[in-house]
Amino acid sequence: MSDDDIKYPVELPKVDISAYKEGNRGIPYVTTFDSGAPGDHILIMAVTHGNEICGPIVLDFLFKNNVRPKTGKLTLAFSNVAAFESFDKDNPTVSRFVDEDMNRVWSPEVLDGDRVTTETTRARQIRSIVEEADYILDIHSMQTAIEPLMICGPLEKGRQYARQLGVPEFIVSDAGHAAGTRMRDYGPFGDPESPKNALLLEAGQHWAASSGDVALDATIKYLKMHNVIDQDAFSEHELPAPKEQKLISVTDAVTIKNGGFKFAEAYIGFECIEKAGTVIGWDGGEEVKTPYDNCVLIMPSRRQGVGDTAVRLGKLLD
Ligand SMILES: [Zn+2]
Repeated sequence: MSDDDIKYPVELPKVDISAYKEGNRGIPYVTTFDSGAPGDHILIMAVTHGNEICGPIVLDFLFKNNVRPKTGKLTLAFSNVAAFESFDKDNPTVSRFVDEDMNRVWSPEVLDGDRVTTETTRARQIRSIVEEADYILDIHSMQTAIEPLMICGPLEKGRQYARQLGVPEFIVSDAGHAAGTRMRDYGPFGDPESPKNALLLEAGQHWAASSGDVALDATIKYLKMHNVIDQDAFSEHELPAPKEQKLISVTDAVTIKNGGFKFAEAYIGFECIEKAGTVIGWDGGEEVKTPYDNCVLIMPSRRQGVGDTAVRLGKLLD
């Protein structure tokens, strides 16, 4: 079986988000609810990638249930709407982005630079909202059907933040991608001295019904952690939390140098490769080997080009 033969059914609906276009911030698809009381500004972001349709389901739920912050502010925002609008359940993979990956543009060099794409244009629109926020939950999903995971960035503050939330079972601590900076690592969120913090949830396979459940559970718990909603609110939508979480530290990102990247097996992620030096794929003709024993493969990614991340390699820390 070749890598691209892994096909997944589209179980989740693409929700209609047109009602949220106007918003109240002068930026399409951005709505801020202000409690009027002092407190943190919490940002929940959906569809940073257009084919990750569980995020809009969660925001739609929060809107329809009239969720309002008890203190501080709550912003609900849809990121790459143009890509999401092109989502087609008969060809669900292609709507990840329009021109480029929206989660690789979050640096001053790009945002203040002269690169004009659908994604840089949208990122410049919502940049002020990201800068206003104190805490961000960015809701994503994954190509393959593996356990949900929380990406907490490289810093100890991110690891602690993911542990404070308590879900999902797996936490992945990593430094991101050579191709560009993610929103969760932007500015103060990537500064160890700043109290600002961000998490990136990978809720499961993009279109699996379970991803919708996991994303809603994590968001409800996240809002409770920040005391945005009452502790007994929406408990019927929560899932049991794991007894303990497992932290995987990413040591290497395999960035594609030559192109035509092929994996040695139909890896889906979380495979633990026992022996150092095992060939896990080929970059052009060049062998890609595991650098140490018990190397965990994180989110192997198909359909990627030169400069993109093919897979990340990690160590289970606990
Ligand atoms: Zn994503």
